[in-house]
Amino acid sequence: MSSKHIAIIGAGPGGLTSGMILAGRGHKVTIFEKENTVGGRNAAIHLGPYVFDTGPTFLMMTFILREIFEKAGKKLEDYCRLVPLDPMYKLAFENKDIYPSSDHEKMRKQIAEQFPGNQYGYDAFLKKEDFRYNIMYPCLKKPYSTLQSNFSPDLMKALPFLSLGKSLYQNLGTYFTDEQLKIAFTFQAKYLGMSPWECPAAFTIIPYIEHAFGVDHVMGGLSRISDAMAAVTKENGGEIRCGATVKKILVKNRAAEGVELANGEKIEADTVIINADFGHAVGALFEPGIIRKYSPQKLVKKKFSCSTFMLYLGLDKKYDEPHHQILFARDYRENITDIAQRLVLSDDMSVYVRNASVTDPTIAPDGHSAVYVLVPVPNNLSRIEWNDETIGVEREKVLDIICKRTSMNDLREHIVEEKIITPSCWENDYNVFIGATFNLGHNIPQMLYFRPHNKFEEVDNCYLVGGGTHPGSGLPTIYESGRISADMICGIT
Ligand SMILES: Cc1cc2nc3c(=O)[nH]c(=O)nc-3n(C[C@H](O)[C@H](O)[C@H](O)COP(=O)(O)OP(=O)(O)OC[C@H]3O[C@@H](n4cnc5c(N)ncnc54)[C@H](O)[C@@H]3O)c2cc1C
Repeated sequence: MSSKHIAIIGAGPGGLTSGMILAGRGHKVTIFEKENTVGGRNAAIHLGPYVFDTGPTFLMMTFILREIFEKAGKKLEDYCRLVPLDPMYKLAFENKDIYPSSDHEKMRKQIAEQFPGNQYGYDAFLKKEDFRYNIMYPCLKKPYSTLQSNFSPDLMKALPFLSLGKSLYQNLGTYFTDEQLKIAFTFQAKYLGMSPWECPAAFTIIPYIEHAFGVDHVMGGLSRISDAMAAVTKENGGEIRCGATVKKILVKNRAAEGVELANGEKIEADTVIINADFGHAVGALFEPGIIRKYSPQKLVKKKFSCSTFMLYLGLDKKYDEPHHQILFARDYRENITDIAQRLVLSDDMSVYVRNASVTDPTIAPDGHSAVYVLVPVPNNLSRIEWNDETIGVEREKVLDIICKRTSMNDLREHIVEEKIITPSCWENDYNVFIGATFNLGHNIPQMLYFRPHNKFEEVDNCYLVGGGTHPGSGLPTIYESGRISADMICGIT
């Protein structure tokens, strides 16, 4: 196999995955990252002595990450210290708390105590969804660059198990009778930035994956994964140029030939991989007229995920609160409808609070803590103006909820460092199209062959990795996208 020069735009999880694998296979890899650090939405945020993850905090299917490191000739555990979480998280409803565990005996007992009778539904969930997962997941590991690939024997075999036309929430109704229990097994649609009432039933594999394989923390934060991937890329001979913004992808006769940086430097490459947010890249990195199928006018008509309002709080106090907890809105469905359909901010909102300091002493000084707060909100199609007034009001609403519903009732008095990210920051500072933090939606017409292809269909010598391409927008699927594109470039698939 002859060595190619591969230019990768973006050092997010997708770009780093393909970079470390391709460098390990002897290709000349150069990753161009506009920020001064690697990781993208999976980078660390440092505020004084406190360390936060910008985005991902739930690591699932760690075995996929392990496989990616092995493909690059390395061992994950030599770079990252992983800690399984049990319980995985706390789900706080107004009148009840649930502590989901991937220990099936524990979980079954909890369901039997709190929701008598529903433990049989849990048994059925594990059995049926295990079957679905084993049929479906291998299909997600393959590229879908041709229409024929959408009719592959594997996919045809999986088709009857996709529960087409059914939502995640409807599917969970076949296992559980209790409303809160249904929410406990469907809120995971939010990982895709979707509503459980719209998210296809096929995604029941996400709650299944959690309950089957558990949720891990990485000591120091999940950003350590990106740091480790960058280290491996360099050890394998790749180059990472931070602070190097790509202004344009150089295209001749509809084939990529390299990139031009914001400083005017032009770099030739045999292959260009785009890890920058897909919607942003097709609108900003190509000369007008090159992109047709995904032109800005067509793209805006696609379904995109919600956005998030984020608080990163460095506190001079430590609280005995769970590592992950979700404080559900009193009326969760109304909250989701505000986010996904009405495109307005809810007063009765759901708030995710991550208090990783209970597990990890490395992210804050002794007796202090680093608390991360995520509130799902509409993406920027809402036209909400994220000015100082909106930010101030939203911040107070969120802090009120945390103070009222957790033991962190004196939280405000202990904030010594603070950072806020709004949907407009996601769009303007992080180059995320319409601030849709979890990318293109995962409705069936935007999946598999119908999602932007790993081998980009509009330009030759150009590949996509990350949440905007196949298979999808969570870390495990993003790692898969990096692997799929790397394999395609090497002619392996
Ligand atoms: C708040 C939040 C919470 C999340 N939580 C989870 C979770 O718990 N678990 C999970 O599995 N997933 C989660 N995700 C989803 C997903 O895992 C992350 O968003 C992930 O970081 C996306 O990776 P990516 O490779 O697609 O892109 P990104 O991380 O966005 O990387 C793209 C990179 O491209 C760079 N770039 C952009 N434009 C240019 C340019 N012109 N030139 C050079 N570089 C450029 C960017 O700076 C960035 O570094 C979360 C996402 C967010 C935002």
